[in-house]
Amino acid sequence: MRKVQRRNELSKQVGAIKNKLNIGVKDEKVEQDIRTFISKLSNEIGIDPYFAGRLLNILLAESTRLQVNEQDSQTQFESHLTVFMNAKKLEASGKKIIHMEVGEPDYPPPENVRKALSKVFESRQYHYSETKGITKLRTAIAQKWGNHVNADQVIVTPGGRFAVFAAISSLLSIGDELICVEPAWPAYRECAAFVGSTTKILKTTLEEEWNPDTGKLEDMISCSTKMIVLNYPNNPTGRVLDKNIVDKIVSLARDHSIYLLSDEVYSDYAFNGFTSLLGYGYEKSIIISSFSKSHAMTGFRVGYAIAEENIVNKMAKIQATGLTSVAEPMQYAALAAVEESSSENAKRMKRRLGIICNKLQEMSLEFVEPDGAMYVYPKLSGGKRDVTIIRKALDLGVAIAPGSGFGDCYSEFIRISACQPEDQLEKGMDLLKAAVS
Ligand code: PMP
Repeated sequence: MRKVQRRNELSKQVGAIKNKLNIGVKDEKVEQDIRTFISKLSNEIGIDPYFAGRLLNILLAESTRLQVNEQDSQTQFESHLTVFMNAKKLEASGKKIIHMEVGEPDYPPPENVRKALSKVFESRQYHYSETKGITKLRTAIAQKWGNHVNADQVIVTPGGRFAVFAAISSLLSIGDELICVEPAWPAYRECAAFVGSTTKILKTTLEEEWNPDTGKLEDMISCSTKMIVLNYPNNPTGRVLDKNIVDKIVSLARDHSIYLLSDEVYSDYAFNGFTSLLGYGYEKSIIISSFSKSHAMTGFRVGYAIAEENIVNKMAKIQATGLTSVAEPMQYAALAAVEESSSENAKRMKRRLGIICNKLQEMSLEFVEPDGAMYVYPKLSGGKRDVTIIRKALDLGVAIAPGSGFGDCYSEFIRISACQPEDQLEKGMDLLKAAVS
């Protein structure tokens, strides 16, 4: 314990230096070298390398926590949600704000959803339901995904977010590792941190069109690695991966018997086609989906996961412990949405993203044209920092998400959401242009 205490003291000092030099807290290369060393050493001295790896991860996590605290005391972290809150405050004081920071469609859910919801009282569909979700909804979801899926492989959750939480918290333990491709929606690493697991980051770059390097991914896998998370179409980049990259990732997961969490909540917004990971038939994959984006039902809080029954049952235990089930009226509303096509929503989103891309081209900003989702993730020019620009933009009346909310080394990026009518997007982009210049 004295050695741990000494290690923590040194760690804090290192954190202060990193902060001064503006270096990110995590250094994957250094961590990887220590892991390789520990794995070799534990074999030599006869300790189970899986146990040694988890113990090391606990020490590394403590260093990271102390160093982040050190940085937090000196810099203010901003994410799309803090921008959203600030924008709301400004609106409350009478200022007009165009919301291009959150991924919440402005158009309504399908008419049948409204009808189903208004029928709930009459039909008395307002009781406790099975934890995994009402059979009718699970069956309808299973049918939508194909004959090889059955209702027992589906769990209905309050939004895709809870499906992610239930998967991570039921399959990972303290000291286990999760590999996440960044930039990424921050919830994956937040869930991992919640259960005391370590997130290893596979960084991707604009120059490589946000494609993960599968060679690097292979090098990152250790005996403590339990899960790889993929999210395509991607939030924030809008990218969809080429099939050969997905093939390679699935085969790595198979070879090392690692869970594959595939967050496909934007799959209905894939403009040039998308193949779900479900098609690979890998028994350790978990597919996440949601009605929030596809059918503009964010506030209904209905999402789901598809996986082998033994995985679904583990996730159901978390759900039973925390919330019994998704509200039954909302499950009936979602049932009405399953058969509703979302292709018009996808066309509309593609048009809107086109408007944003044209404006970005006029501004000479670099970006990769999105294959799907609801966002564009451009790089600011001339070394400008995201936080400076988004503050200026908010002053002018448009809310934009900072790129650094999606990973430590993306402070030169911003995420622009297309969830506004076209005329508002045009106006918002003009205000952003003014802020940048
Ligand atoms: N996954 C990704 C990648 C997301 O961006 C979001 C929402 N922003 C979700 C999951 C969760 O959505 P919900 O909980 O509303 O289904």
